[in-house]
Amino acid sequence: MDSKDFRKNAHKFVDWMADYMENIESYPVKSKVVPGEILAQLPEHAPDNPEDMDDIFQDFQDIIMPGMTHWQHPGFMAYFPANASPPSILAEMLTSTLAAQCMSWQTSPAATELEERVMDWLKDAIGLPKEFHGVIHDTASTAMMSAFLIAREKLNDFKTNHRGLSEAGLHCCYASAEVHSSTDKGIRMIGLGSDNLRKIPLDENFSMIPEALEKAIQADLDAGHKPTCVIATLGSTSISAIDPLQAIGRICKKFGVWLHVDAAWAGSALILPEFRWMITGIEHVDSFVFNPHKWLLTQFDCSAFYARDKAALIQTFEILPEYLKTREGDLVNNYRDWGPQLGRRFRALKLWFVLRSYGISGLQEHIRRHIDMTRQLAERISQEPDFELLAPNPLALFCFRYHPEGLAEDLLDALNERIFEAINDTGEIYLTQTRINGKYAIRFVSGAPATRQRHMDKAWQIIKKIAIMTK
Ligand SMILES: *Cc1c(COP(=O)(O)O)cnc(C)c1O
Repeated sequence: MDSKDFRKNAHKFVDWMADYMENIESYPVKSKVVPGEILAQLPEHAPDNPEDMDDIFQDFQDIIMPGMTHWQHPGFMAYFPANASPPSILAEMLTSTLAAQCMSWQTSPAATELEERVMDWLKDAIGLPKEFHGVIHDTASTAMMSAFLIAREKLNDFKTNHRGLSEAGLHCCYASAEVHSSTDKGIRMIGLGSDNLRKIPLDENFSMIPEALEKAIQADLDAGHKPTCVIATLGSTSISAIDPLQAIGRICKKFGVWLHVDAAWAGSALILPEFRWMITGIEHVDSFVFNPHKWLLTQFDCSAFYARDKAALIQTFEILPEYLKTREGDLVNNYRDWGPQLGRRFRALKLWFVLRSYGISGLQEHIRRHIDMTRQLAERISQEPDFELLAPNPLALFCFRYHPEGLAEDLLDALNERIFEAINDTGEIYLTQTRINGKYAIRFVSGAPATRQRHMDKAWQIIKKIAIMTK
């Protein structure tokens, strides 16, 4: 494709993109295809000869689009959001065009220095301490695994990286019973064994009980094991529970255990001063992750990882064969030494565009609007005699079920499952489900950039109508 054709197609695509954003509500939020339907429309072999871009684009519209779930749809209230925004999309276009591989300072000094600067901006914006050093990862999963590795290496005098785990003893980690599966996975991947992740009991707000944590650590010490890392969650995935950082932090200090905070979704709410209470005790925290790609208008992938001990971070990951040496040495950050990946995308650019084009106040407005709208809807549902909330809702997430008067408990799970499926089949809104104390719960999250009050009102009308019909 020559530059004339590129220009022509790019203009056409940008028009398509703007139309898509304007008309997103006309699509069903959740794709309606059945398994195999897309695959059956794709030829078994790649074409031998070049194909025309008009044909490729037509197939994109005819074959691919029906199989897409529309995460930016205002009725997307499932999982957690994966925000995009016009400034972020524009930056990604530039990133793709520059196509730089930003593994070290020398391979694109601007990418490295911009990353350092925007990660500091972001740190200030959410109230993290000055001593934290930030790096952008693809996902929180990668960031979490990094945290566990640094904790392990620091505890073992950085020897396990070289000698392997055979002489390391039994490493134990601790998290709330509501912890995200990426913790189990990260612990497996670095060889600590997820059976050695202690799931600490919860109080009535589904927050970790600090006394139970302390007992578990003491028991492992008594057994000759190595308490290595505590994972505190701010905003658990299922129900947005918040672990008490201050009390957990004191215990970690007492026993010299690394404290990692998983705030993948809820971390964005720290941009609001009224939610900073969630990080009371941050002075005890060793590492922290949150995803601007969830709720902060910066599109996937952009996960912000912060660690206090930069030297330990680098000592854990640094590996310097001759072909990677550059003469700047310690004068600069080489982010290849800050995590598992060598090759790195230029992710800081979209964060810079987003932070500048919305400003902190614009981002605050976005987060605050979702929290306010969600709380109001939860309040409204809690006042309905035939509906009940199943957990506290501190942020923009609540869990509920339909519970008509007189209906026996053992019928409620199946009823709510049918309601849930029927809601999602409308294509108007998209919710996910969870279980709370064994009860089937319908989970509602607001966070898509396009969602406004009228979408919340409509969501409630749909939920109510379908619940009554299904009964
Ligand atoms: C989404 C989420 C994760 C995983 O995030 P990825 O970036 O997809 O790896 C981890 N922890 C919590 C609490 C989450 O909500």
